[in-house]
Amino acid sequence: MPRVEAVELRRLRLPLRSPFRSAHGAHGDKDVLVVRVLGAGAEGWGECAALAQPTYTSEYTGGAQQVLREHLIPRLLRGAGEVAGGDIGGQEVAGVLAGVKGHPMAKAALEMAVLDAELRDCGVSLAERLGGTRTSVQAGVALGMASTVAEVVTAAEAFVAEGYRRVKLKIAPGWDVSPVTAVRAALGTAAAVQVDANGAYAGAGLEPLGELDRLGLALIEQPLAPRDLRGHAQLAGRLRTPLCLDESIEGVADAEVALDLGACSIVNIKPGRCGGLFEAVRVHDLCMDRRVPVWCGGMLETGIGRAANLALASLPGFSLPGDLSASDRYFDEDLTEPFVLQDGCLWVPTGPGLGVEPAPEALARFTTSVELIG
Ligand code: MG
Repeated sequence: MPRVEAVELRRLRLPLRSPFRSAHGAHGDKDVLVVRVLGAGAEGWGECAALAQPTYTSEYTGGAQQVLREHLIPRLLRGAGEVAGGDIGGQEVAGVLAGVKGHPMAKAALEMAVLDAELRDCGVSLAERLGGTRTSVQAGVALGMASTVAEVVTAAEAFVAEGYRRVKLKIAPGWDVSPVTAVRAALGTAAAVQVDANGAYAGAGLEPLGELDRLGLALIEQPLAPRDLRGHAQLAGRLRTPLCLDESIEGVADAEVALDLGACSIVNIKPGRCGGLFEAVRVHDLCMDRRVPVWCGGMLETGIGRAANLALASLPGFSLPGDLSASDRYFDEDLTEPFVLQDGCLWVPTGPGLGVEPAPEALARFTTSVELIG
């Protein structure tokens, strides 16, 4: 168990290889917030999943940095001071931070860093600590909305040629039936195709979803607003294609209600959205009990967050390919050693903790500001 004495917050700007556009906004660069915990003989890294704008959920990078600086880190440092010897483990972090409402992505980043420090200290990999059973994970790729149908078809074919076996298309009213039909036809049996609406059909006509239902898609993700579980349940009853929820599921309590209502039959798990890796594991465990398949979502993470996602996705219930892509899907240069696609899969890191750490040169090149607290 590490003694956490200080926490560094580092903002970085990483250029994306191509802009990424979905119903919740467009990203040209990735605005990254990295958390590093420091103590006597302890160091651990975490990455905040929040995006630059509060358009996926209410969190955003700048707000996450502020709540970490002013509320979460002081509580962590105080909490560490109150436990015997000043040592705190990753599993204790959520409890220490529970007095602060909301801000799951900021909390998850701090938990990830403390857990990395703890596991590095005892030489255990994150996958092993969480109960992972796979050594590699099937990769998937998410494609943002494009300017033309031809553009998205070309991109989908190129990723399948690289070895990706699951393609997810971002959709919204006006960008749905045409591109998805074209990609489905172009890929044939070479890859599974699924769609993600990020809630964009809330208050809109649902006819396009009926047309998408005829295309044999693997799933339709989050068509309606996050809190509209009843609407999702009604829609699920009308569609043959499985409905999957993302933004609606902030933890195991949400997952339980959604499954009880029949609002989804597949769950996308993101540790940031759930407030941390341990809560993400609880969602996984519930879904395993209910025989509901899960997969790991992505937030355009650098190698730090990607390593944590891969460790999580090595658990047995992650039976569907996630939004887990190689580093070169997003970045010319990642913060860590790049994750590389091999036969359509990514290896789960096996080293202590996250099993990766940022390269000093990459940190120096992409950092825009650093602050030390404690
Ligand atoms: Mg999603």
